[in-house]
Amino acid sequence: MIPYGRQTIEDDDIQAVIEVLKSDFLTTGPKSTEFEEAVKSYTGSRYAVAISNGTSALHAACYAAGIGPGDEVITTPLTFAASANCILYCGGTPVFADIDSKTYNIDPADIERKITAKTKAIIPVHLAGQPCDMDHIHEIARRHHLLVIEDGAHALGSVYKGRKIGTLSDLTTFSFHPVKPITTGEGGMIMTNHEDLYQRMLLFRSHCITRDPKLMTRSDGPWFYQQLDLGYNYRITDIQCALGISQMKKLDRFLARRKELVQNYNEAFRDNKDIITPYQMEGTESGWHLYIIQVPHHDRKKVFEQLREKGIGVNVHYIPVYMHPYYQSHGYEKVHCKNAEEVYSHIISLPLYPGLTDEEQSRVIETVQETLRQV
Ligand SMILES: *Cc1c(COP(=O)(O)O)cnc(C)c1O
Repeated sequence: MIPYGRQTIEDDDIQAVIEVLKSDFLTTGPKSTEFEEAVKSYTGSRYAVAISNGTSALHAACYAAGIGPGDEVITTPLTFAASANCILYCGGTPVFADIDSKTYNIDPADIERKITAKTKAIIPVHLAGQPCDMDHIHEIARRHHLLVIEDGAHALGSVYKGRKIGTLSDLTTFSFHPVKPITTGEGGMIMTNHEDLYQRMLLFRSHCITRDPKLMTRSDGPWFYQQLDLGYNYRITDIQCALGISQMKKLDRFLARRKELVQNYNEAFRDNKDIITPYQMEGTESGWHLYIIQVPHHDRKKVFEQLREKGIGVNVHYIPVYMHPYYQSHGYEKVHCKNAEEVYSHIISLPLYPGLTDEEQSRVIETVQETLRQV
């Protein structure tokens, strides 16, 4: 089976991990700081907190943003559940704004319609690496005094109007799960330009426990520490961060290969009227985390099953979040986002990752064309 996504681990990545295993630090230490520096200098953002995964990154971002009970946060339904779950972790209420049927990203006009007196923040998700319409989203956020937290799990290396994703909004999160642009096995990071948000997330990552005399209410002696708020153990290990540092050096090479593969797909499918290929917004560069096609004239389920049977590890990104049983039984049973449901019914993600060979891609292309002729 050719998978839809896969990590690329090379000898120097392995060597970097082995070296940490022989060092003094296994959990968060010097490699974590070095990894934060690497992603900061790549994206151009001022502060970074490396954390256990992309979901805890979103949780930390919502915590830093002060989201709590009574607050509504607007996000997209066409995303991984974590983009909305993070709001629930903080006691807030996710509100789903529909997507733009062309880009599959959150539609600013529908964000505007969903704003109430309770709205506190917006969480746009750069689906498949394609940047959202950030100028428009920021304009809405400014007008309504809302925070913007970008879920950049797909978008490390994506560019919006000449600026890398990671510097545009109050907070941006990344994920380093194996299928994401780079991997640390499990891992995540939050980027911000605000020192106060940075300090809150640093504490949050490790139980909100501090030894800083400036933050403590008193001290009984040199052993003393205090827990200031309810935090978690969301620490990332130096073992993971050593892999991350090594992977960051390859990010641009990975992105270039993804782009090349996408061009091959686009070229191959250009004249096929049964396939809608991904739309690219002007002034942006996608990191191409996913290659999502629509097959609107076919039974998607049949096409999907046939492709899997023929060894093509296709996938679907995503089932609209509010359709999950948990959301259905927690007040979302009447929620409908028309465009998201329509797009969901036609999409299939084809294999896309730096290690996909030209031969494998040709097999995917031929199998897709053949399947669409037969089904
Ligand atoms: C992968 C992903 C996450 C969560 O990241 P993890 O590292 O798996 O916790 C969040 N949002 C989106 C859009 C993702 O694809």
